[in-house]
Amino acid sequence: MTISLNWDLASLFTGGSQSATLADFLDQIITDLNNFRPNLDPLTVQNQAEWAAQIQHLYDITTRLDHASAFVGCLVSQDVNDDKAFQLEAQSDQLWAQLGTHWTKLTALFAQQDETAWADLINNTELKHVAFNLNELRELARQKMSPELEALATELAADGYHGWNRLYNTVSGDKQVMLLGEELSLGQLQNRYEDDPDREVRRKAFELYEASWLKLAKTCAASLNNQAGFRLTLYKNRGWDSILKEPLMNNRLSRETLEAMWSTIDSKNGKLLDYLSAKAKRLGLEQLHWYDVFAPVGEVAKTFTYQEAGEFVIEAMKRFNPDIAQFCRMAIDKEWIESENRSGKRAGGFCTSFPVNGETRIFMTYNGSYNGMLTLAHELGHSYHDWVMRDLPYGASQYAMNVAETASTFNELVVNDASLRATDDPQERLSLLGAKLSNAMAMLMNIKSRFDFEMAFFERRAKQQLSVDELNELMVTAQRNAFKDSLVNYHPYFWASKLHFYITEAPFYNFPYTFGYLFSNGVYAQALSEGPAFVDRYIAMLRDTGSMDTEILAHTHLGVDLTKPEFWETALDRILGDVDTFVDLVDKMA
Ligand SMILES: [Zn+2]
Repeated sequence: MTISLNWDLASLFTGGSQSATLADFLDQIITDLNNFRPNLDPLTVQNQAEWAAQIQHLYDITTRLDHASAFVGCLVSQDVNDDKAFQLEAQSDQLWAQLGTHWTKLTALFAQQDETAWADLINNTELKHVAFNLNELRELARQKMSPELEALATELAADGYHGWNRLYNTVSGDKQVMLLGEELSLGQLQNRYEDDPDREVRRKAFELYEASWLKLAKTCAASLNNQAGFRLTLYKNRGWDSILKEPLMNNRLSRETLEAMWSTIDSKNGKLLDYLSAKAKRLGLEQLHWYDVFAPVGEVAKTFTYQEAGEFVIEAMKRFNPDIAQFCRMAIDKEWIESENRSGKRAGGFCTSFPVNGETRIFMTYNGSYNGMLTLAHELGHSYHDWVMRDLPYGASQYAMNVAETASTFNELVVNDASLRATDDPQERLSLLGAKLSNAMAMLMNIKSRFDFEMAFFERRAKQQLSVDELNELMVTAQRNAFKDSLVNYHPYFWASKLHFYITEAPFYNFPYTFGYLFSNGVYAQALSEGPAFVDRYIAMLRDTGSMDTEILAHTHLGVDLTKPEFWETALDRILGDVDTFVDLVDKMA
């Protein structure tokens, strides 16, 4: 049987962006949003049912809007020339903003209710299934300013705070440069300096990259300084004393856990220096430059058709967890995946879920390479995560960024190891191990430098704005520390080039990556040692990702304490175990 390279969207709404069913579906959401007015008297046992109904109603609207905008997201990705789809996207953004206002007003009411009445409502109605989420929303509302002030701050943020983020995106997205007679965006230029096998090309690309960011640096610095100032002022008025309070809350994580993670990394990541010097040796260098750290070593020359890649992933998963394997088979057979390599679709890959019927869709461009197969495995992991949660109410199925990559990274690790087992070819093994360790270096060194930079930046910014030179200096200091002075040169304008520093919707867009990576490796280590017995626990853990603090989740399902070094040590030892294998391989090939 041949499998389809295109996804089936018609079973969700027929007619694509011109769909009449979708238009009706959106109209109903608009009507419901316009009519939503929570005129609720103070909460008592008598009006409990009315309260519960209002809250459930808003969850219901949220579920439907999420469903519709997931569909619209698929439309704009599959055809970048579908103007109607882009109109629908703008419309759904507006509807989310309107919905957000309703939630803010409702949760402000939560905060004002009497403790006992609230506990009664949460425990004695159907809301008990989403108690975690409601308590979390209530707690957040209690820690903010008065509802009127918060509403004003949100309104001002649209053109102020978030405006700085948009300015950055405009300035950095428009820039085109010429490299060796070829016109490139800064993103393409970055790929050249990181991945090009020719060192001269990497060097030229990196120099041009630094020079290009130098030109934009003053604007970037203004954006960074001003949005940071906005955030600090807002926090001060809320009485929040730590810059990490918001990102930690967003990730349902404690400061102790974050500190345990970073300090264990700091004590162990020195092992990566052996990897970096073996890599230098392989590349015929004394020591690596910043533009050498991602350079390819070895080669997986094999290519796989989409069908072969799917079969490989399914076989690899089967050894581990037949349930995941079956799910992958179903997702492929039911045409939930858009994989065709053609022009006119967006770059990148994602997985999106449809909360009304529990289905998911995967978007990617499959190019036949080993990395393409890894992307397929990765996205199928996201898809599986949502699949095991499909029967949960909306309020119990929203998980944070730090655990969002658990199932996807898990799948990648399984496929990685299966590929290593399947080959004796030294070039292939070098490439596979090199890719794993390159990822480790990104998570344990590069992202560490981003986190340390951001901490240092906010400490200084609380007193005054920072100049371009000062930002460069902070950046290089953080890089030197994270890479333990092992490179010849560093990347001072990294703070300007990295979009993640400018995302106002998700401050500290760095540590959740490292957390997720190590967390998933820890889960994988347990799965390896326990075999099939782990399957049920794995599913139970994924199901609880939307309704527990991360420490409780790990303790309940893995029996580990994230605030202590042991869990992190086990995960790191597993990852860093590849270093010696890599070094041996390089020595043998010399
Ligand atoms: Zn992912």
